[in-house]
Amino acid sequence: MSSRPNLIFIMSDDHAAHAISAYGGRINQTPHLDRIAANGMRFDNCFCTNSICTPSRAAVLTGTYNHVNGVTTLNTPMDNRLQTYPKLMQAAGYQTAVFGKWHLGHGPAHDPTGFDESVVLPDQGEYHDPEFLTPEGTVTIEGYVTDLITDMSLDWLERRDTARPFALMIHHKAPHRHWEPDAKHASMYEGETIPEPHTFWDDYATRSAAAAAAKMHMLDLVEADLKAPIPEGLTEKEEVSWRYQRYIKDYLRCVASIDDNVGRVLDYLDENDLTDDTIVVYTSDQGFFLGDHGWFDKRFMYEESLAMPFLMQYPREIEPGSVCGEIVLNVDFAPTFLELAGLAVPGDIQGTSFRSLLGGETPEGWQTSMYYRYWMHRDEDHDVWAHYGVRTLGHKLIYFYNDPLGQPGALGPSDPPEWELFDLEADPFEVNNVYDDPAYAGVVADLQRELARLQDVVGDEPHTT
Ligand code: CA
Repeated sequence: MSSRPNLIFIMSDDHAAHAISAYGGRINQTPHLDRIAANGMRFDNCFCTNSICTPSRAAVLTGTYNHVNGVTTLNTPMDNRLQTYPKLMQAAGYQTAVFGKWHLGHGPAHDPTGFDESVVLPDQGEYHDPEFLTPEGTVTIEGYVTDLITDMSLDWLERRDTARPFALMIHHKAPHRHWEPDAKHASMYEGETIPEPHTFWDDYATRSAAAAAAKMHMLDLVEADLKAPIPEGLTEKEEVSWRYQRYIKDYLRCVASIDDNVGRVLDYLDENDLTDDTIVVYTSDQGFFLGDHGWFDKRFMYEESLAMPFLMQYPREIEPGSVCGEIVLNVDFAPTFLELAGLAVPGDIQGTSFRSLLGGETPEGWQTSMYYRYWMHRDEDHDVWAHYGVRTLGHKLIYFYNDPLGQPGALGPSDPPEWELFDLEADPFEVNNVYDDPAYAGVVADLQRELARLQDVVGDEPHTT
């Protein structure tokens, strides 16, 4: 066995931390994801730098922000000549593979590069009997997508060269919309009522126009999401609650299948004596609103969408059952994996390795704030408006600059800019915008300075009207 660790990076699509029992989620149980937390570390302040699929995936792979890697929106595929951590690991002798969701574009300029083997879904992919893109062409495989991606991953592990370390990316499609469960979990939660979240009936009274404009309400769910006719005779409020139950149960059923399949991977490592030498990560490309603020989907800088679940086990460096409250970002993953693999972190990677956090040590000067930017504006389906902001351990300042700026997938017209400020200790659910409260004038001034500082550090530019 090589002294260099193996890496298994499991990333699902749209799985919010509050649908994982290790995170205290009150709506489901995820015993196998919880195994990773029990064996390793749960990160409580892991955030994405842009809460949308394609951009977050690019940030994870490259360790750079979206204005640098060019993947600002859903409509900007990634240039596959960019430096990524799998490429660097492959060049250093690692066996590399990716199975499942790619969603960074297709064709010669965008297909996966840096992998010995890749079998990926076309775009979003299908849940049942999906097509996969292989280097030899498109194949349709019978079965359920989460099982199939896991089958391929375990098969590749079986076929690997045991003399060399490996880096395996297992990228699940689930639990992405339209939340189609498999037969095994189809009747889970039947006859049960899943509790509605604290902010389910949010009226956005103190908030920006953007919050009220978003089309991510239960009433915006379509037939393919609900998969059943709306019962007759319901009041609007009753219908909203009925829709939530339809939505959340299918979402959690998809999560249950992921959980089972993560268990299969952990069992494989145990049975093959690989656990001690393998870093296992479970994360998702961003968070998700599970009825929070009345919504489904993501995009906003609000907590449920900004936060990524991040569970990591690596017995050689992490004490079982650890919890980390420091801020780590999706751009920090790549340098962390490179450092753990014993490789130099190239200077053009913008994120920072958090390896020392794994041992319970916080390096001097570790980040206590983070920069976020959502580049799309008034997109056709969800109508979330363009914004950037800063989150510290205690506060969040958001600037809705509300301008499409010609970004692909961003639409006009622009809207008047607005600010929001949340005191995360007094108001963890972010229902009370205190930007105009004189008591917070000092906090606003400090955070506006911090926002400008972060933009300067990462090389982004403030919006000008
Ligand atoms: Ca996603």
